[in-house]
Amino acid sequence: MAGLKLVNVNKVYPNGFHAVHDMNLDIQDNEFIVFVGPSGCGKSTALRMIAGLEEITSGEIYIEDRLVNDVSPKDRDIAMVFQNYALYPHMTNYENMAFGLKLRNMPKKEIDQRVQNAADILGLQELLKNKPKELSGGQRQRIALGRAIVRDPKVFLMDEPLSNLDAKLRVQTRAEISKLHHRLKTTFIYVTHDQTEAMTMGTRIVVLKDGHVMQVDTPTNLYEKPANKFVGSFIGSPQMNFIDGVLERSENLLKVSYEGGSVAVSGDREEKLKQNGLEGKKVVMGIRPEHIEVETGEVGDNSSNRALVEVTELLGSETYLFLKLKESTLVARVDPSVKAVVGDWVTIKPRVDRVHFFDPATELSLL
Ligand code: ATP
Repeated sequence: MAGLKLVNVNKVYPNGFHAVHDMNLDIQDNEFIVFVGPSGCGKSTALRMIAGLEEITSGEIYIEDRLVNDVSPKDRDIAMVFQNYALYPHMTNYENMAFGLKLRNMPKKEIDQRVQNAADILGLQELLKNKPKELSGGQRQRIALGRAIVRDPKVFLMDEPLSNLDAKLRVQTRAEISKLHHRLKTTFIYVTHDQTEAMTMGTRIVVLKDGHVMQVDTPTNLYEKPANKFVGSFIGSPQMNFIDGVLERSENLLKVSYEGGSVAVSGDREEKLKQNGLEGKKVVMGIRPEHIEVETGEVGDNSSNRALVEVTELLGSETYLFLKLKESTLVARVDPSVKAVVGDWVTIKPRVDRVHFFDPATELSLL
């Protein structure tokens, strides 16, 4: 078990590319931390610096209060699981799992105990005598996990370990890794570009963009209180809708007006926006698809909040309606009982108590 700390960590590659900017993180024992962000945002670079596989340009990394900047990867007490499993094809699965321990001259008996224990945890007993090529992708990934477990490391590092698995197996293995984390009670750091993986597995998530940390928070807080527009759009599927608007007071109501409609803001949100001096200012509204209510029935040509149904996706338990509101395209997640077909006009009602407001220039949350 170990905590981990990154202090102002930077990575500039020899070609001058600044891949990670001033990364600060304080990870507690037993957390399941996920680094998530689009391709090229620096998540693998950050993980590899923690592993010691990539030199850091400046800053400090501590594992359990020990500065490890100059400690070699094998002495950091971490185990890394890679996307491509990195198993030796000529060895049996048992030998693959035992290999790292053998290199450390561990007694044979202890190696055997550790391999058997990991095989029990992962349900691999039947496969120990086989070679990796005789296994499915999911089984190979379990051997790779087993090889990490036998080391009994302080920290597990995983770089997109599920990306070579098909969709169904990914969901299964995701749950297995979560169970493993509960069972081992060790710190996990997991890299993925998939926000669903991040949200379902992480106890805290680090959202990265262009080498910068955008927000570090629990899945619930990231979803409900995104610090900026990027986090709002990256977390959640279908993604958050954005509409440009202006905050205006009329008839003693604070309203946000946007193309094709307006809604009144009240309660805490009104207070907060007022306090921050935002009356009369332009804002970007961020609305989750489930926070757009859709009414079917007669819609007048000039009525406000009028939107055209362009595409419908029926998923069984819910329906996505892709709507055109003047120039904006929106997606609403509605109950299948809402009967709307392509070409219908409907009335949309953003649930203003759940709407997010962002600064159009800085893109930071205004709430
Ligand atoms: P992906 O999901 O595609 O793996 P990532 O978020 O893990 O992306 P990194 O692999 O950390 O991204 O790369 C971050 C940035 O640094 C990318 O723009 C990449 O092109 C660049 N980069 C990575 N390795 C090097 C290198 N050795 N030299 C120069 N630039 C590099």
